[in-house]
Amino acid sequence: MNYSFRKKNKIVKYIVIHYTGMKTLKLAYKKLSDERSDVSTHYLISRNGSVFNLLCPKYKAWHAGESKWKNYKYINDYSIGIELENKGHEFGYSNYTYRQYHSLKKLINFLKKNFNILDESIVFHSDISPNRKQDPGEKFFVNKIGINRFNMSNTKRKYSINEMLCLYGFHKSYIKKYKKFCIMAVKRSLNYKYINPYLSKKFSKDFYNLLFS
Ligand SMILES: [Zn+2]
Repeated sequence: MNYSFRKKNKIVKYIVIHYTGMKTLKLAYKKLSDERSDVSTHYLISRNGSVFNLLCPKYKAWHAGESKWKNYKYINDYSIGIELENKGHEFGYSNYTYRQYHSLKKLINFLKKNFNILDESIVFHSDISPNRKQDPGEKFFVNKIGINRFNMSNTKRKYSINEMLCLYGFHKSYIKKYKKFCIMAVKRSLNYKYINPYLSKKFSKDFYNLLFS
């Protein structure tokens, strides 16, 4: 078994975007749909834009693993998982294709309507498991699917890095334990070419603009 029943009190609130991180689509499809594997997903989008619905969203897929976001833990309970075909950082990370963005945009708009999901609830695997995961990574441009994840109004002109990490959505325990990984996850969100945990004036400014504009 690689999926489970959702509990009645845990409603779908988030969409988690992943990459497959495997050498071929066939391998990813096989693993994600194999009942003997310990992973699964609801949707898989190939590089040519085909959408495979591997599991009905009414069931809980096992895509996120150990994960936290805002005040939630075990994000599988609250989310729909979408995997984008990409070899990933291990096997040859490449740009996502136009067709993938096109299909993803359509799928996300459909899911947003059906499950009342907000733009701010479209999250990356690297956001909810920053210490373990890098996907979908710095080559994923969320604006290409018409999503504005952060549209916050600022109440002051300057925020500390920790305040911004909290506003971004990282779980408090992750900010405490894995601050460097959280910073790297934000850099992926900002589509930085080089991902490192170092702070700079430029980063603070980019981070501020990501949240408030
Ligand atoms: Zn993932």
